[in-house]
Amino acid sequence: MLFRDVSGYYDRLESVSSRLTMIDLLSEMLSKASKDEIRALVYFTQGILAPSFEGVETGMAEKMAITSIAMATGFEQKEVESSFRKTGDMGKAAEELAAKTRLRRIGTTKPSVERVFQTMHKIAKTSGQGSKEVKLKLLAGLLAEATPVEARYVVRFALGKLRLGIGDATILEALAKSGTGSREAKTQLEHAYNLCSDLGKVAETLYSEGMRGIESFEAEPFSPIRPALAERANTFEEIMKRMNGRCYAESKYDGLRMQIHLDRKAGRVEIFSRNLERLTEMFPDVARAALDETTAHSAVFEGEAISYDDSSGEFHSFQETIQRKRKHGIEEAAEQFPMHVFTFDLMYLNGKSYIGMEYTGRRAALESMLKEGNIIRLTDRIEARSSPELERYFNTAVGSGLEGIIAKEPGSKYVAGARKFSWIKMKRSYKAELSDTVDLVIIGYYLGRGQRAEFGFGGLLTAVYNKERDAFESITRIGTGFTEEQMVFFRKDLGRSRSRNKPPRVESVLVPDFWVEPLHVIEVRADEITRSPMHTCGKSDYKDQEEQGYALRFPRIVGKGYRDKGPEDATTTHEIVEMFKLQRKKKIDDG
Ligand code: ATP
Repeated sequence: MLFRDVSGYYDRLESVSSRLTMIDLLSEMLSKASKDEIRALVYFTQGILAPSFEGVETGMAEKMAITSIAMATGFEQKEVESSFRKTGDMGKAAEELAAKTRLRRIGTTKPSVERVFQTMHKIAKTSGQGSKEVKLKLLAGLLAEATPVEARYVVRFALGKLRLGIGDATILEALAKSGTGSREAKTQLEHAYNLCSDLGKVAETLYSEGMRGIESFEAEPFSPIRPALAERANTFEEIMKRMNGRCYAESKYDGLRMQIHLDRKAGRVEIFSRNLERLTEMFPDVARAALDETTAHSAVFEGEAISYDDSSGEFHSFQETIQRKRKHGIEEAAEQFPMHVFTFDLMYLNGKSYIGMEYTGRRAALESMLKEGNIIRLTDRIEARSSPELERYFNTAVGSGLEGIIAKEPGSKYVAGARKFSWIKMKRSYKAELSDTVDLVIIGYYLGRGQRAEFGFGGLLTAVYNKERDAFESITRIGTGFTEEQMVFFRKDLGRSRSRNKPPRVESVLVPDFWVEPLHVIEVRADEITRSPMHTCGKSDYKDQEEQGYALRFPRIVGKGYRDKGPEDATTTHEIVEMFKLQRKKKIDDG
């Protein structure tokens, strides 16, 4: 498939706002790919070279792109810079200058998707002395053969800013249509995706083995599984009712979620975060313990890692635990902040997937796989048959400094990548405020006025994720409660991904001073969820100025920086609507 055709589709996709039209166009494009091309095409459309847990990046910065564009078009670097300044989009600068190129086009071949993708891989792999020049030449080589529109996407991709505004949910739906003729298959494709977190692999399986391959898709070591998530409830009675009168209640530890993959024969261990980022090098002690303190030949299991004070034996706070997430001084940190990993689930053991097995069976296998050890432990739990029993256990957990409990349904499977009532959390904070903190995606920021002018930062515009519409819907503007340090941080960090234009997939009535690519997630506490026409969260028609959406009252940021979550793992519109109902019920219950 020619990259020329693909970039033609990308160009059309950029101007489409209806999601259905977008799915149709995308599926038309995907249906043109062969089974050998589909993997690369899907990754390219996601704007990545490989699934994000592999961490493969081109390593190209804006300055390098400027040089490459100059080399390929014969313009001066200064001219490239000035074209870039006009739009703030290096892709557009490449397009503009490629259209007026001062050099004679070289080569008569039209690059295929495969070739563009392989060249990007080469750029990524080139490292060490002299690598910069090689990278520049590789990119310039591609640009010299590209049409102006192709140049736009080649440059954007190289910089990791494809900006098509297409989320994974939309790609899955388009794949279902292109691979089976109907969007219905999306559910099964999504299930396969949740098991491996690799959209390219799912697409390749679909194109080479059809739906049979998708239906027999299994989790396996070293492909991270999208984590199961917990629902919320207001009362212990409600939990018990949802669990049909019997459940297991586990202590909820407030640390770092870890998914540990191991293969003893290969001597290989990988640790993934909640956001499926590789953490292995940062936790060599945990990686060693995964082999030393278990009997598994191969396994995928999960736990919450929390650091403790060696002399008093007490747990450290979450803030101290995350000190371990660092790139330097790793062994020293391991000594200063030793860890326990409280394991709570097992998804794979000795060649067999455990995802479809009941909780009780998974837990029994997890228990028998662990040796007596210091680092890897089991979460504390009880079996509960009544709500007073649950409440007593909750009080003990909170009394000993833990965050709360998670109730688990004995007969439930491991629900990868979804928030379901087979796990229900109850946290100590639920007693006082709105039933939970929420995780919001930053979509814009305001410049400071008055006293804050010196920081160039006056607050954030934030959104929730609407899974059905694959869109980020605004929910609140956070204007107060920032420390000076936070203001400096946000100004600097968001300044890098700001734009004057609203990013695709963002839906908002309010217009901030600068839009920001929806990438970063923060934790926010609020007093209440209210109805308001000013926010698009929960609106059926984004353009309707009268329709009531959902908003947050008195929002303030919790924690210092970003959460370890991708934008699509933020709180969803559906959760907000459910929390709004819980809040109304709580108000009635409390009189
Ligand atoms: P939260 O802010 O409550 O941690 P979250 O969105 O990160 O929310 P949830 O699925 O809502 O995640 O809550 C479950 C989280 O609690 C898990 O991600 C995990 O990190 C942590 N956790 C701590 N103890 C347990 C346990 N015993 N079983 C399952 N998860 C646990």
